[in-house]
Amino acid sequence: MEQIIQYIKEEPTILAIPFYLITMGIEAFALWRQHKPYGVADTAASLSGGVGSLIVRFFWNVFFIWLLTLCYNAGPKWFASTQVWLTWLCLVIADDFAFYWMHRLSHEIRLFWATHVVHHSSQRYHLATALRQSWTAPIIETPFWLPLAFAGFHPHLILLQMSLNLIYQYWVHTETIRSLGPFEYILNTPSHHRVHHGSNPQYIDKNYGGIFIVWDRLFGTFEPEEEPVLYGLTKNLTTHNWFTIQVHEFAAIARDAWKASGVLKKLRQIFASPTALAKEPE
Ligand SMILES: [Zn+2]
Ligand SMILES: [Zn+2]
Repeated sequence: MEQIIQYIKEEPTILAIPFYLITMGIEAFALWRQHKPYGVADTAASLSGGVGSLIVRFFWNVFFIWLLTLCYNAGPKWFASTQVWLTWLCLVIADDFAFYWMHRLSHEIRLFWATHVVHHSSQRYHLATALRQSWTAPIIETPFWLPLAFAGFHPHLILLQMSLNLIYQYWVHTETIRSLGPFEYILNTPSHHRVHHGSNPQYIDKNYGGIFIVWDRLFGTFEPEEEPVLYGLTKNLTTHNWFTIQVHEFAAIARDAWKASGVLKKLRQIFASPTALAKEPE
């Protein structure tokens, strides 16, 4: 019980729940006034992703902190005598860099995509969509943050910044903000992230940044929002069932790998880019 209370106290994502509920309520009311439905079944599916993800992280973090601590103790502890503000600034940048690559590979490797597809499975784009998290994502995320601990960022500080990065990404899941002027050059904004959720051909595998969009500009994955975004997947799910949403791509990989002839083709079904695989004849 004490462990649960401690987790709630230390996990900003949980502390942000009242803020999430209030802002989603305001958004639902605004949409209702415009005679647009919020989508009760879709929202419930998104919330199940969020709640499940928090529960999984509660258990996974025990292992994750243990691994981070191993790396931290083995590393040179570069930030041991650095001023707090400078350590934090470096961590914000390093954490978002790790997020960019984790997120990019979660789109470019099919096994990783099987976890991340959950977040992209809604055809709506509102604040609740932000909470549609994968229950299996923490397993994929773990190795990307270990170098940060090795470099000398304290494990608990890393976990805190990971949560703050996710909280930042909550508010970009909205259609109500069109453009943020000069901030569009540096930050991941609602406009940039709408593109990320698009299934239009030019929007696929673009704009991976968490807090900053500069990584996409640097590494060639940036796409500005021009034509209206079609949200969701290229082949959308026809159900709001939480279990199907969480596991459908794992099942598809198993099916396709089973059908493929030869080891190389089987491995390709598991590890190749989903976008490349979709272009191949069935
Ligand atoms: Zn994504
Ligand atoms: Zn998103």
